[in-house]
Amino acid sequence: MAKSRFEYVRNYEQDLSILPNTYIVIRVDGRGFHKISKEYDFAKPNDRRALDLMNVTAKSIVEQFPETLCAYGQSDEYSFVLKRDCALFERRQAKLVSTFAATFTAQYIFRWPQFFTEPLKGWLLPTFDARTVIYPTIGEIRDYLSWRQADCHINNLYNTSYWTLVLRGGMSEHEAEQTLKGTNSSDKNELLFSQFSINYNCEDEMYRKGTIITAVRERGKRRIKEAHVDVIGDEFWKTCGFP
Ligand code: ATP
Ligand code: ATP
Ligand code: MG
Ligand code: MG
Repeated sequence: MAKSRFEYVRNYEQDLSILPNTYIVIRVDGRGFHKISKEYDFAKPNDRRALDLMNVTAKSIVEQFPETLCAYGQSDEYSFVLKRDCALFERRQAKLVSTFAATFTAQYIFRWPQFFTEPLKGWLLPTFDARTVIYPTIGEIRDYLSWRQADCHINNLYNTSYWTLVLRGGMSEHEAEQTLKGTNSSDKNELLFSQFSINYNCEDEMYRKGTIITAVRERGKRRIKEAHVDVIGDEFWKTCGFP
């Protein structure tokens, strides 16, 4: 193809290539979901439809990108762990980040009507940003996933307590906030149990632990599984079969 005299401007493009032989984590997070969840009437503290939609969207990404080892999701975020030898887009960061954000957003919007009867509004469409983080060993990947799951646990225990005080205890949002100020985990468990007969450990596992999607090879076929299990302890890591 003939080159024009404008061709030189391409040399100004800066492209960050991600370090070879490292795990790449791509985390997508919904933009302004506090507002989205209000506008589309998400149930509080956990809207099942919204979480199911996040999960099927993430599964479609794991299917589409065979370089994905596993994915972990909670709230409006999903982390995708790519294999160490992943060569997708020659590991170009801008390509990875923009493709995951765009593909996740497109799949989420495409699948929305399967979960919500209310149609999306053109002036408030859900979108997702993305970032990459690299980790040298599976040990850091384990700690990364543990960090996200601990975040899920802390937020969900707080939100469950908060919305129980508001919706069942008749408190104002301000009163609920004041009541929970300075409380630790066992205070919140105790409050839920003594005042509302709620055993927090019996709440839905998807809400308490988030969702882990794994892709493992079984008899030559790539199988994608979804679970709501602890990823902090040893059990998951003994059986996951990750390289
Ligand atoms: P940012 O654009 O900075 O990410 P954000 O409003 O999305 O801002 P987050 O910290 O990502 O803030 O928090 C996501 C918010 O979305 C939560 O605070 C929660 O209110 C809401 N949310 C997400 N998923 C659900 C769900 N399944 N059910 C109810 N609320 C949800
Ligand atoms: P990559 O994923 O690397 O961007 P690509 O296939 O999208 O790969 P581009 O260099 O972006 O490659 O080129 C876009 C291609 O899409 C063009 O070569 C052309 O064949 C096709 N295309 C884009 N717009 C139109 C259009 N309006 N009508 C017909 N073909 C189009
Ligand atoms: Mg968000
Ligand atoms: Mg978030």
